[in-house]
Amino acid sequence: MTGTPDRRPADAPESAASDSAREADAPEATSESPAPGRRRVLLAAPRGYCAGVDRAVIAVEKALEQYGAPIYVRHEIVHNKYVVQTLEKKGAIFVEETDEVPQGEIVIFSAHGVAPTVHEEARRGKLATIDATCPLVTKVHKEAVRYAKEDYDILLIGHEGHEEVIGTSGEAPDHITLVDGPKDVENVEVRDPDKVVWLSQTTLSVDETMETVDALKNRYPNLLSPPSDDICYATQNRQTAIKQVAAEADLVLVVGSKNSSNSVRLVETALSHGAKDGHLVDNADEIDEAWLEGVSTIGLSSGASVPEVLVDGVLEWLAERGWDDVEIVKPVDEHMQFSLPKELRRDLRSEAAEKLRA
Ligand code: SF4
Repeated sequence: MTGTPDRRPADAPESAASDSAREADAPEATSESPAPGRRRVLLAAPRGYCAGVDRAVIAVEKALEQYGAPIYVRHEIVHNKYVVQTLEKKGAIFVEETDEVPQGEIVIFSAHGVAPTVHEEARRGKLATIDATCPLVTKVHKEAVRYAKEDYDILLIGHEGHEEVIGTSGEAPDHITLVDGPKDVENVEVRDPDKVVWLSQTTLSVDETMETVDALKNRYPNLLSPPSDDICYATQNRQTAIKQVAAEADLVLVVGSKNSSNSVRLVETALSHGAKDGHLVDNADEIDEAWLEGVSTIGLSSGASVPEVLVDGVLEWLAERGWDDVEIVKPVDEHMQFSLPKELRRDLRSEAAEKLRA
């Protein structure tokens, strides 16, 4: 791989740690238009792991270290095949439902969050639980509970069947109606058009969600908005970066699994912001060489559940085929971190205290 110039705007803060090695040897930024025939990769930043995914994966690893295998995990801890398979090799067992976990065992709830009924099932099954729900998903759950208490009709913008939507809806099933995109707005029915609020899944397309909100506001002019964005910082930042990359890319590759909402949205966002072609791949093995025909500039990003090792694999694969000139495109910086789930923090603290006393 040759140079990796950083194309942040002049007022952007320092670079993210994941790209620091690439940036260390970076020459000056090149011009916007590549020389004819030049093969280059525009590497979007931020990309990959968000703070919620990082926390969930570390929670499973720490639980395996702390309590030993097996540790049960309800649903894929994050939507990424590689991550799930790696944790399985270490002793995690993924289950669809809590009643598959033997009585007395430990179960971790995934980053997407669960409905209160799932906590209740775990209590009935006498399971020890560790809740790795992303704090930003928990924030939406709390908003749902609050607006339901105030007797609002809650219009939850999201994708039908997505785990996060199922979990959030379960907080206030009698008050929540799912709105799956702008076309679904005409199907919505509410009790009182003056007492309606919208909330959203955290991993949606920012642009499409605002389209849905506009359509809802046309029907319900007094529609209340949530106090702060429900689409999380990580989803927004990755979409901002891919938009900048897409404007110059003949082809955009997004590393991520097909069931990862935020990864799928990245491909859609790239295609709607200038990329001539775009594909979602789990890893380098899924790239079709035919996609590279006539391509000069390739944009590359990864979803919030994707470890950087998979992006490295794609960069190596591209470098072997002549795309070894990598520029980092970083319109925003990111430093978010979340502390581990409280159940783990408590046990890790008491273990540390015991070691100190020994
Ligand atoms: S994508 Fe956003 S909401 Fe989902 S786990 Fe990551 S930070 Fe949390």
